[in-house]
Amino acid sequence: MLIKVFQKGFNFSQDGPGNRLVYHLQGCNMNCPWCSNPEGIEKDGSIMVTEGVDDAVCPNGAISSGMLDSKLCRGCPKMCLQTLHMGIKLSCDTYHTDEIVSEAARSKSMFFSGGGVTFTGGEPTLNLPALIDMLKKLKQEDINTAIETNGSHPDLASATEYIDHLIIDFKHYDDDRHRKTVGISNAIIKKNLKRLSLIRKINIRIPLIKGFNAEEENAVGFVNTLSECNKQNITVEFLSFHEFGKSKWQQCGMEYKMKGYEYISDDTSEMFTRIFKDNGFDIIRT
Ligand code: SF4
Ligand code: SF4
Repeated sequence: MLIKVFQKGFNFSQDGPGNRLVYHLQGCNMNCPWCSNPEGIEKDGSIMVTEGVDDAVCPNGAISSGMLDSKLCRGCPKMCLQTLHMGIKLSCDTYHTDEIVSEAARSKSMFFSGGGVTFTGGEPTLNLPALIDMLKKLKQEDINTAIETNGSHPDLASATEYIDHLIIDFKHYDDDRHRKTVGISNAIIKKNLKRLSLIRKINIRIPLIKGFNAEEENAVGFVNTLSECNKQNITVEFLSFHEFGKSKWQQCGMEYKMKGYEYISDDTSEMFTRIFKDNGFDIIRT
């Protein structure tokens, strides 16, 4: 099976325990304005410009003053691939799932402190059969596995027996706010959180974004929703909004909509921690 990867590399204890080889799989069914990997959203990859690109590289006039205009870009990747050396590229490469598994197997000595392989995105469950194929084979190789998912795949449960560490990002408890901001309903995510928490451990990650979900009433809203889960099996982690992906939005020729958004204060994250702890949740920091 084939899979598209837009980024890969090691990190320590950020997306699962220990030293991990992290694969970012191309394609996401959400469109979060704060996404730090916007080049991973389009399922077939995004055209990206790099610094110093010559406007003349694009015969269709989609590059002006070194900036890509995604509205003018016709998405003709072959043309872009021919001009790769001239400052324009496709965000992802295509691999056979077996290539990923054998690369991971060759890297076993690097998986110290309980490390292994993590699949994140984009949204790694978008191509669920290929994901399960890799997870199964990694388990046969006795490699620790983790995924970070937005939790929206209706058949996520079918993959969980091959996942040692399951990280589910949960953006908003309110369906209307969720739809309006990230583009899809949260109904399946809530269902997955509830039913999976009955059978296994889940690390729930909540990105805190001022004006969207970081106010006190939101802490209460999250707590009420997550109280339907089996608390014994979940840990909660709060992530602060950051602008690490800002330049990549520009590289992809897409409008960055988080301009002027403030980072959350320490008080906000302490307030969330307090409210969650008071309601019996286990809070972690990675
Ligand atoms: S895909 Fe590349 S060559 Fe085609 S319009 Fe877009 S930037 Fe220009
Ligand atoms: S779910 Fe994650 S990868 Fe997808 S758009 Fe949102 S932040 Fe980006």
